[in-house]
Amino acid sequence: MMNGFDDDDLRKSSQSLYKVLIVGETNVGKTCLLRRYSEGTSSEMQTKATLGLDFRVKTIEVDGRTMKLQLWDTSGQERFRSMTRSYYRGAVGILLTYDVTQEKTFRTLNDWLKDIERNAPEDVELIIVGNKCDSDARVIATETGSQFAIQRNLTFFETSAKTNINVNNAFETLAQAMAANSRPRAGTMQESSNRLNRALSSTAHLSSSEKQQKSRCSPC
Ligand code: GDP
Ligand code: MG
Repeated sequence: MMNGFDDDDLRKSSQSLYKVLIVGETNVGKTCLLRRYSEGTSSEMQTKATLGLDFRVKTIEVDGRTMKLQLWDTSGQERFRSMTRSYYRGAVGILLTYDVTQEKTFRTLNDWLKDIERNAPEDVELIIVGNKCDSDARVIATETGSQFAIQRNLTFFETSAKTNINVNNAFETLAQAMAANSRPRAGTMQESSNRLNRALSSTAHLSSSEKQQKSRCSPC
């Protein structure tokens, strides 16, 4: 082919390719988190909300397995709530992000969970990330974010793309869950995990041991 790839190359590379989305309101720091993780930088100069979807690939080792993470950025489309079904299609992991300095970005997390439920594969792995934890302008307490995640049985991190706190941790924890989740697909019957339904269901039935197990919060 003209671009130097043939179908075989694509097939081989797609075997270990995992589509990862980062979603959340505009300005929460999604682009900075992706750049920080994929390049190790988060320069403000580099962020630009171009239209048209964009992804970067990062290769990591998880438990001796090579995973190619295809990290998708929304390129500003979240501003218009125009994230399409095709954006979510085939996603194996989602990082749902809010900004600890902007209350509205936390308040709308449930809307994002509903969007994800409607559009993403049922067994997608999901984590909640409160970004900008370096900032003095925080309005959402660590405990508040942590409780939101615990009640939905989701893993939670506070991050700073700016000062590089917990960014690798968040992505790699998600990748580990993705690796564990995808393993049974190749072999025996997959346990129907239904993570999203759990995330959206009432909180009343969670045991305290589940709560403790899923609470993974590192305050800045
Ligand atoms: P997006 O719209 O979600 O992609 O957000 P951007 O990545 O474009 O970031 C929006 C703004 O927040 C920019 O001015 C960033 O410099 C700033 N920002 C991103 N991450 C952080 C962070 O961890 N801490 C602080 N203090 N600012 C951040
Ligand atoms: Mg962006």
